[in-house]
Amino acid sequence: MPPLARTKEEEEDFMASILSDGPEIKVEAPATPKRHLSRHTESSCNHHSLSTPTRSANVFTAKDVDIAELMEGAEDWDWDDMNSDVLSPRRARSPKKTPSAIRVVAPPPAYVPPTRTRCVVKGIEERFSSGYLQKVLAVQVVPGDERRCVILQDEWVDTDIRPGDTINVLGDFAAPASTCKAAPVPTITINVQTNLFIHHPDLLITATALSTASQCRRKPIVTNLVRSSVDVTPSLVWGNILHEVMQACLCEGRWDGPWIEAQIDEVVKKSLGDLMRVNMSIEQAVSEIRLRAQGLRSFADKYVAEEPKPDAVLTNTRAATGQISLLAIAKLHDIEEDIWSPTYGLKGKVDASVQAIILDTDEGPRSNPFTKAASASAKTPQSWTMPFEIKTGRAVAGMEHRAQTMLYTLLMAERYGTEVPSGLLYYTRSDEVVRVPAVRNEVRALLVARNEMAAYMMRRMRTGGGRGDEKEHVPEVEAFLPPTIDDGWQCGKCFALDTCMLYRKTVENIVDTASPIADIYALKTSHITPEQGAFFKKWEALISLEEQDLIRFKKELWTMGAQERERHGRCFSNMVLDRSYHWRPEAQTSSRIHGHTYRFIKESLTQSSLLNGHMSSGDAITVSIEPDLLAFAKGFIVDLTPQEVIVGVDHEIDMDAVRTRTRANLFEDVIFRIDKDELFSGMGRIRDNLAQLYYPGGDTKRLDLVVDLKRPEFDDIEQLTLDETADAAMGKLNTNQQMAAAKVLTAQDYALILGMPGTGKTTVIAAIIQMLVSLGKTVLLASYTHSAVDTILLKLKHVADFSILRVGNIDKIHPDVHEFTLAHRRVPTTLEQLEHQVMAPPVVATTCLSIDQNGLEVSLFRMLSDAHPHAVVDLNEQYRMNADIMLLSNKLIYSDRLRCGSEAVAQRSLKIPDPAFLRGLHSTASPCQTAVSTCWLAQLLDDRCKAVFVDTDAVPAYDSPVGDLVENRVEARLVYQVAECLIRSGIQQDQIGVLSLYRQQIKLLSHVLQHRKEVEILTADRSQGRDKECIIISMVRSNDEGQANLMKDWRRMNVAFTRARSKLIIFGSRKTLQGTPLLKEFLELMDDHGWILPLPRDAHEMHAISDLTDSSMKKRSADDMVEPFSPDRKENTPTRPSKKGRKSVVTDEAILKGRSLLKDLMNESS
Ligand code: SF4
Ligand SMILES: [Zn+2]
Repeated sequence: MPPLARTKEEEEDFMASILSDGPEIKVEAPATPKRHLSRHTESSCNHHSLSTPTRSANVFTAKDVDIAELMEGAEDWDWDDMNSDVLSPRRARSPKKTPSAIRVVAPPPAYVPPTRTRCVVKGIEERFSSGYLQKVLAVQVVPGDERRCVILQDEWVDTDIRPGDTINVLGDFAAPASTCKAAPVPTITINVQTNLFIHHPDLLITATALSTASQCRRKPIVTNLVRSSVDVTPSLVWGNILHEVMQACLCEGRWDGPWIEAQIDEVVKKSLGDLMRVNMSIEQAVSEIRLRAQGLRSFADKYVAEEPKPDAVLTNTRAATGQISLLAIAKLHDIEEDIWSPTYGLKGKVDASVQAIILDTDEGPRSNPFTKAASASAKTPQSWTMPFEIKTGRAVAGMEHRAQTMLYTLLMAERYGTEVPSGLLYYTRSDEVVRVPAVRNEVRALLVARNEMAAYMMRRMRTGGGRGDEKEHVPEVEAFLPPTIDDGWQCGKCFALDTCMLYRKTVENIVDTASPIADIYALKTSHITPEQGAFFKKWEALISLEEQDLIRFKKELWTMGAQERERHGRCFSNMVLDRSYHWRPEAQTSSRIHGHTYRFIKESLTQSSLLNGHMSSGDAITVSIEPDLLAFAKGFIVDLTPQEVIVGVDHEIDMDAVRTRTRANLFEDVIFRIDKDELFSGMGRIRDNLAQLYYPGGDTKRLDLVVDLKRPEFDDIEQLTLDETADAAMGKLNTNQQMAAAKVLTAQDYALILGMPGTGKTTVIAAIIQMLVSLGKTVLLASYTHSAVDTILLKLKHVADFSILRVGNIDKIHPDVHEFTLAHRRVPTTLEQLEHQVMAPPVVATTCLSIDQNGLEVSLFRMLSDAHPHAVVDLNEQYRMNADIMLLSNKLIYSDRLRCGSEAVAQRSLKIPDPAFLRGLHSTASPCQTAVSTCWLAQLLDDRCKAVFVDTDAVPAYDSPVGDLVENRVEARLVYQVAECLIRSGIQQDQIGVLSLYRQQIKLLSHVLQHRKEVEILTADRSQGRDKECIIISMVRSNDEGQANLMKDWRRMNVAFTRARSKLIIFGSRKTLQGTPLLKEFLELMDDHGWILPLPRDAHEMHAISDLTDSSMKKRSADDMVEPFSPDRKENTPTRPSKKGRKSVVTDEAILKGRSLLKDLMNESS
């Protein structure tokens, strides 16, 4: 994305376009504007407020902060921000605070925020009024049911508004106007002169995207969809570094030469990765940045002061003749402040939020009506909160910069609760500070453009709604991109050209032989066949379906009150900051420490446990204060107990600043909400990966193989020659495995190994990696889960004589393979060292994303193996499951292809070493033994019982809701009793695995088995790659309605079956589960083999196991009981265990309910 020059005419065009319909305004266009290069948006500096005299007691800044790396992925809410890929991990700075001694200047006028009314459109009518079209909207205020009337005039009339749309009206409704028939309905008119309205305010569009919308409305939407990451230019890198240097100076308030030099050195060293990408040396970078940073000192001399100096001239292109303004930047509030505004439907990351003192000396004959900042008392300096944008390119007051800065004034006014009539733009090249007043006409024009963008983006959401669980097809949607502008010159130099043309061809199916861009179009797309186009269209749309889930969750932050969202398990409401908390870095297990760490506690201890929801340690969160301080800090949960949560976040939570902004007095508690954040960065990249196959000069080999399903070729196996190492690795495999390895080694394109459970996949993969490396190849090892990647690395660890690079978030990587990560290598100080660390290892291992839901059921593997059976080898000789357990998975998944590797494996059973415990349970007459049946527990423990479904219908064991989660306490007790009985009869704890699909059940099971630390409690996904002598599964769902919405998860559950070596016990309600066809089939299979054990009534009360052992089941503390029992709840457990989870084994499984793409986003190494 090279910098693009804009002519004076273009600038004027833009201004004309955004000013059209408004009153005439003379705009001075700058001399040689350049296209704004958007830059990274990552916070590199802690919140720093020069005005705060002391650091609040609860703030601790760790030395080795790596919040930037932790926030990777979370950071890029700026959809359009093309450049965050070039980021190097940043270390946050320690804020330095100096007391402020600002002389009191005139305060800004009292802030009167616009009245915001959120409405849903009920009806639309078009009418003519004095010859002009207007739209009359019947709306309903939400929440509530009050009816009102909104009249759109002038350019607002063009809004593509439809019944059901959400809008924000900014302005005051008044008594009924004559235009509305049905008086008395409060009415508002929105036109050129007055009031504003925001269409689809829940779509937060970035200010940078919107600022580029002037020439082409399609461009920001296209770049928002496909996140291209290839074009990194040196000037972009210099810009990023210079930004960071300047922010460091602002943070520390230091501008002396040696300090700046030191900052340059430091930032350049941290940017090695970026330098590598643009092929520049450290020396080049340092000298380049020195040159560019020359103006910083004079900037500080002039502008950083408590009051304006005589030479601190502020450029104002809108100033009247003779009007001179002077500027002093007196205080820094924050840097990289990320502001979300559901009022305006905008968001943005402000380079620096400053307190500026401005002195307007009006020597001219007339004042400027548009400069709101000019106060009546022209000689008194005034203090304003302002956005301060740093521009490192050559442009001066480029139109996009102005638009962006103007939008930031809106965001900051809302965030700071103060008038922000203008913003500041600092151009490092010209050493000039420009004031950008937020002029109504320009702001209005930008918001009209914003509404248009939002309307296009919403078209997809609208059609995508109402997705069913088993949706296999993609709904057709109406056009969701604005039309191309068909301007040969503009499009020819547009950085989004390739993507734009790809969508035009594949999604929009445009035939174009005549337009001014017909030639470019043909050049970019004529190689794409209709079949290839259809493939792109389908997958692109499926990706969008996944994306909508994220958007839906995201907006709950402002559309759903904290308490309501807490009931859905995605928020902690009513939290207060624990000022007594002191962060102890030594408590941290690794060097991974967060920028700012805080403890929040429930305001009232009688509230429900924090462990009840979907939020766990390691989850991404945002910290907010209702209603307006939304997500002002972002980070992760570090630790979680029933009443308190410790979070590590990217911004300081400065209670003084918070009180000022929320106008809370010193004595009342400030109430925070902590919300689960949805990481969102993956989609644009996924689309980009897909698009890369299609671009001219793109990855045609993979396009042929994956899209056109070209036949993969293999070398003749006779010609395969192995060196000594490879030969040795091959020799350790069995015949079946050797065939698989040979297939891979002879593949010219790809080979597919269908590794069935227990067949030694890990062994084969590790051996193949060894062989490939010894043959001089490089290997990328990828899997959907961290544990799968690490299991293979653990295998390689002791045999590999080559280096391995493990890429990913170190918090999620197995400690025993940390040695392969960059974090455990010496921090490189030269490009050569970095290059060596990154490029030299022949094996790179990481996680990847998967899409296999909602129509993406046909995985790439399936698709390829169906098309080319000759490319597939089965690993089907398994050494894990006994014949009964194998029979189940053979029938349910593997179409009888699996076989036992030996007779010993087939006959495997679990023998109880010591039957004394079981005997002891029955020393007196026990209700479990009747004339017709023997004790159910004894039957389960019998070594001949190898695969069994335990039917709880007669017990009964109903499930019960916990918020919108579900648990089954009776089942948990039954599972507990079996596990406990096995252990007390001599089975090793680590040979037992307990499994459920339901997160709340996992928490419950973790609690009841908390004293059995080595019993593994697993979600289906976590169980991958493990095996246990005995697996006990809790199916949970049991209700009269037959609700068991398990379809997708059931497939995963099947995989979990195959973890069991000798015994598989499945607890569940037959009645409920057989309502689902797949489960019905399973139950019939079990029935056919006589593998169903119906439990008698009250089976869970028959054995006194909990009395013997489990004090935690008896000793209920009061706080475990705080949740009220609802009378209609089917409750048949007298006691209620707390939900204290064994955190290490609880995953995000439940919330993600089969949305595997989302899951992988959460899992993603990022
Ligand atoms: S190629 Fe043309 S139509 Fe497409 S996004 Fe760029 S400027 Fe707009
Ligand atoms: Zn018994």
